[in-house]
Amino acid sequence: MSEQNHAQALFEAWSSALRATPRLPFEEWAQAHIRNGDGTPFYFRPYQVAPAADLFNPKIASVALRAYSGAGKTYLFSVAYAFAIEQLKLKIGKMFPAENLSADWFFKKLMPILKETPVVASLPMVKDNVLFKAWENGSEITGVGANSAGRIRTLEVDVADADEIDAITSEIRDEGDKLQMFLRRTRGRKRQHHWLASYPSIVGGSKIDAAIDQSDGCAWFYECPKCNEPQSFHPKDIVWTSGKAHEAQVECPECSKTFSDKERKESVLQTGHFRDRDDKIIVAGELPSEQYGGRRGYHINCMAHVGDHADKFVSYLHEVAASAEQADNSENPKKARRVLINTLWAESYEEEYEEKADPEGLMADRDDYDPAGLLPEEITRIWGGADVNGKFIAVFIMGSGPSGFYGLNYTEIQGRWDSPQTWKALDRLRRRKWKHPNGAQLGIRRLFIDSRFQKNTVQSWTKPRQPQVMAVMGSPALGAPAFGSKRKDASTGANVMTLGVDELKDQVYDIIDKDTDTPFSAYFTDAIEDGVEMFGSEFFAGLLAEERDTKRARDGRVVTTFVHPAGAPRNEPLDCFTYALAAFKSDKRTEEAAKKALDGLANGQVDPEQPRPVRQYQPTRGFQGGKGWL
Ligand SMILES: [Zn+2]
Repeated sequence: MSEQNHAQALFEAWSSALRATPRLPFEEWAQAHIRNGDGTPFYFRPYQVAPAADLFNPKIASVALRAYSGAGKTYLFSVAYAFAIEQLKLKIGKMFPAENLSADWFFKKLMPILKETPVVASLPMVKDNVLFKAWENGSEITGVGANSAGRIRTLEVDVADADEIDAITSEIRDEGDKLQMFLRRTRGRKRQHHWLASYPSIVGGSKIDAAIDQSDGCAWFYECPKCNEPQSFHPKDIVWTSGKAHEAQVECPECSKTFSDKERKESVLQTGHFRDRDDKIIVAGELPSEQYGGRRGYHINCMAHVGDHADKFVSYLHEVAASAEQADNSENPKKARRVLINTLWAESYEEEYEEKADPEGLMADRDDYDPAGLLPEEITRIWGGADVNGKFIAVFIMGSGPSGFYGLNYTEIQGRWDSPQTWKALDRLRRRKWKHPNGAQLGIRRLFIDSRFQKNTVQSWTKPRQPQVMAVMGSPALGAPAFGSKRKDASTGANVMTLGVDELKDQVYDIIDKDTDTPFSAYFTDAIEDGVEMFGSEFFAGLLAEERDTKRARDGRVVTTFVHPAGAPRNEPLDCFTYALAAFKSDKRTEEAAKKALDGLANGQVDPEQPRPVRQYQPTRGFQGGKGWL
């Protein structure tokens, strides 16, 4: 018998012995039976061993896991499912915030792993539906969504496994807490396991934070390779020189010495361990201290990572540092950082939304350029945003350049929406030119106008003026991206762009707030036109009329929404700035190309991309079926 065959025979004998011993500890079973996708044996990462030992411990009432993205949580739980099916013959309920997420998880995550696990794959199944799987040995898995209370109410399970619990939304008509309702479905069973997991969301509103707070609160510790002091390292301990993320190291808060990613990994593997909130070292398989009522909680941030890193980075620390740099340089740094805090720090996000610019501060900071005379030198393009009301059309016009946006004009064209005079005045403004210091006469490159109010009238005005003018509509979806689809309206034939106005307003509020770090700044002028300040106290009050709020979308993302409180000033300046920003962002031309086109314009060249001339206002042609117009 060759050595290999011998090993195989030994393994088979061992495996069959295992099957006769159903209470083999989960960690040992997994290492004997699970093969990774590439055929290599399964092994637990150091910080997975203690949670694995707890999952099927009948004396542990609940296991809460708050882990970073990349911790291998899905894999750990999938392997637990395989064990529960093959060895313990349990009935399991898996709840996600919505039913379709459960279906997705079965299809993309769980079933592929079960199929690669021979001892489970060979078990005959008696039911294999989208949300319900049953095996001949009596084990079952039912997928539910927190949005389907009826299905939750009829469940009877040994394991209640709730995932992404921070994305469970509550509605007024709900009868009680859906998570509690789900966990109660193990009542009366001999075995009762409660598993809770999620990325955290917002400080104060996080269900996984609450579960961790009620538990013994274990955190991952390892020794500093320099001073040997065991610590729970934080991603904030990663240090690097700006622009040199590949040199990222960890700086020990105790001894202030730095160490490399290789040293960090070695220390995780050799000295890593959990300590509970009372600093007691946790030994895998031991119960939580008595005062925590059998509730175990684990917090694991990305400093525990020992797996691979993405190929384009030299180390995992490089990868984390690069994502932090990328967030700082992104269009919405605050949002990007919030994602990192949730997914890499595995911490909930502390809202700082009270911090918004104040109208008085913006007034005081105004500049003294005079756009009617000469534009500020760095402006290369001009944008407009307009909002139509019953009695006036509000229009904001701004220039853009490398450092940001310059308010050039804010006007409320007085007149009813159904009066041609109102639209004539808007046309005059649309065709206006501003003088650039280089000699060019610069017009509005693109004007976005809201067509939610009086859609037919607005779109019959925009259609003949395309592409310089574009009708827009706000998306009703929570967390919609800044730009949705561009489509042709079926009844008016005009092009309509769908906008995620909450996302755009969030960017506007960051741009105008001097304390928020963004790639763009906003400038306003104190110049007077037609006897009034274009950007006076009323404009700034309107620009800041709305309040930020946060909500959780169905897919678990935390999204910013805007509310216009009763009694607050009118919000047309904010709406118009939002549309002008969208017009700017919709432009494919780079800043460099814009500068080139501007110089060409000064030399008498016609910009080939300049919006083509459009017809003058002609009521009979521009407004088909214009009854009520004249
Ligand atoms: Zn140290």
